[in-house]
Amino acid sequence: MAAYDFIIVGAGFAGSILAERLASENGKKILLIEQRDHIAGNMYDYVDEHGVVIHKYGPHLFRTNSPRVLHYISQFTGWHPYQHRVLASVKDQLVPVPFNLTSLERLLPDQAEELKALLVAEFGMDVKVPVSALRKHADERIREFGEFVFENVYLNYTTKQWGDKPENLDFETITARVPVHISYDDRYFQEQHQALPKDGYTKMFERMLANPLIEVRLSTKAVDVLSFEPNSGKILFMGEPYEGGVIYTGPIDELFGYKFGELPYRSLRFDLETHDVEFYQPCATVNYPNTQLYTRITEYKYLMASVPEKTTIMKEYPQAYDRLVPAQSIPYYPIPKDSNAALYGKYLELAREYQQLMLVGRLAEYRYYDMNNIIERALDVFDKEFKGDESK
Ligand code: UDP
Repeated sequence: MAAYDFIIVGAGFAGSILAERLASENGKKILLIEQRDHIAGNMYDYVDEHGVVIHKYGPHLFRTNSPRVLHYISQFTGWHPYQHRVLASVKDQLVPVPFNLTSLERLLPDQAEELKALLVAEFGMDVKVPVSALRKHADERIREFGEFVFENVYLNYTTKQWGDKPENLDFETITARVPVHISYDDRYFQEQHQALPKDGYTKMFERMLANPLIEVRLSTKAVDVLSFEPNSGKILFMGEPYEGGVIYTGPIDELFGYKFGELPYRSLRFDLETHDVEFYQPCATVNYPNTQLYTRITEYKYLMASVPEKTTIMKEYPQAYDRLVPAQSIPYYPIPKDSNAALYGKYLELAREYQQLMLVGRLAEYRYYDMNNIIERALDVFDKEFKGDESK
């Protein structure tokens, strides 16, 4: 059997970057196993029969302020500059999200001037303020405005997305990603570098994993090839003692046979529709906070440099996660809540008994990482744990 220096589980960003770094920088021999039949994790994209690039697991918009992240990832792709814009359907109007001064003028025309002056005086122009901060502000008019935004943009969307009321969730953490923007800038993100990989994410991952020291084994579940001996701290690979490193990026509860119970996740269903029109909607994504069973529709054509004749849209339906029901078995989102963090802590303690084992990524760390953050995290792990450890 080939001797692998590292067995890495999961071919998303965390696993693929660590495989690439360990192979290219340290000359290590890697086995990268992936349960799906493709690499690239939830970034996986493909071209449909109408020539439209589809992100199979929902829209992934790359952005970063970090020169280090940009420099690293640019080794594997060129870029198609792309600024994401989102409108939300609120009170029969389409208004920018994150909620900004244009949204304010459209939805509260009578109070817009006064509120705008108040917000700019209090926070400044081009400043982002979490809706939670508005709702507990000392000024009653700002609190009322915060309540209006909460009720019309966040409350029902969050309940639909997470299957629970905001008060039962870590609402501040979840919505800090989409703060109210005191600005006329209607872009969804403000990071300096916003772009999509020119030839798609899948191609980018293919290049990342092209090193001959990396062997990729698809359609392989970690629990079928790796086992963790209780009490001894030993790991077996295909039934034989394994001495190398194991980097696991999948769900930690699955790795340990759900010993302490299942960690909760939220799942999604994506419905694709192709329409024989030039464009289906006025921008890339339209959110539906208060109506519809889906949270948003993304029209993929907006993300591309070329303009195919037809258009393909994706509706995102939040749904319960159930690992035993194939259509609901993808754990998209860890659910930020104290009780879940406590359960995760138990698994983490168990994982620490295995000195060869390292946990990295959204599922293994039970954390909602954006792409730029997980790239940075994987680079940090490499620099901290492995840099300078060349085999020859
Ligand atoms: N959110 C909302 N209304 C919106 C957009 C976002 O309430 O119109 C909240 C919701 O709780 C959501 C969170 O903000 O889960 C983060 O939204 P984001 O678009 O970042 O979600 P992702 O793309 O990661 O699913």
